[in-house]
Amino acid sequence: MDEATRLAHAYLAREVALGLEFVPRSVRPPPAPPARKERPAAVRQATDRPAVQALSDLLIEPEIGAASSLTELRGVLGDCSRCKLHGGRTNIVFGVGDENAELMFVGEGPGEDEDRQGEPFVGRAGRLLTDIITKGMGLDRADVYIANVVKCRPPGNRNPEPDEIVACEPFLARQIAIIRPKVLVTLGTFATQALLRNRVPISRQRGNWHDYNGVPVMPTFHPAYLLRNASGKRLVWEDIQQVMERLGLPVAKKG
Ligand code: SF4
Repeated sequence: MDEATRLAHAYLAREVALGLEFVPRSVRPPPAPPARKERPAAVRQATDRPAVQALSDLLIEPEIGAASSLTELRGVLGDCSRCKLHGGRTNIVFGVGDENAELMFVGEGPGEDEDRQGEPFVGRAGRLLTDIITKGMGLDRADVYIANVVKCRPPGNRNPEPDEIVACEPFLARQIAIIRPKVLVTLGTFATQALLRNRVPISRQRGNWHDYNGVPVMPTFHPAYLLRNASGKRLVWEDIQQVMERLGLPVAKKG
């Protein structure tokens, strides 16, 4: 990244921190999505609606917008040093799963286990997410796609900072554009607020459908929260059942 881009990112991070988060999509047309599988009319219609665009998109590197596959996008990311998180990471945690997934989960950022293994959601919380996918939804983990808002571990598992989000979010946005899932599930407060660009508590957002550039979003609690608050599992199951219905998956009755 050259100096001008770095300065612009810092400026935008300040604007984001001040609460200025959106500009009309018409300021800069998005790159044409790659030709992909047909989606139901309702989803196509939603995708065609005018949407809003993050300020960071204005400075998106052309190579990010031009990447037409996850492999290409991973190549553009390279040995990334676009934000200060690069200094403390062991591995970049790009994302894992099916490029054609109909369901995509988005978390906050890698933890210690994820940083060590280079794969999202592999620790205790990750095993719980895997149970939700396999035992709850009847899918394989490989059927879905799992990614985070930032791809390097924040020190001490703190929340990612605005400049880090501004630097990394274009890669998540492009992953979503390439995968074009039918449903996005955001896990926890941070991922939900980052994707939906609000400050509303997760307890008030979960259980209701939202929209991310035409993709239906179901926020739910982070699996790590469920490890501390088992009572939240019932609510997550309710959210996941809504997702299953939207995807046309058979909803098994839980005992
Ligand atoms: S968090 Fe994202 S932008 Fe920052 S160094 Fe890691 S990959 Fe690059």
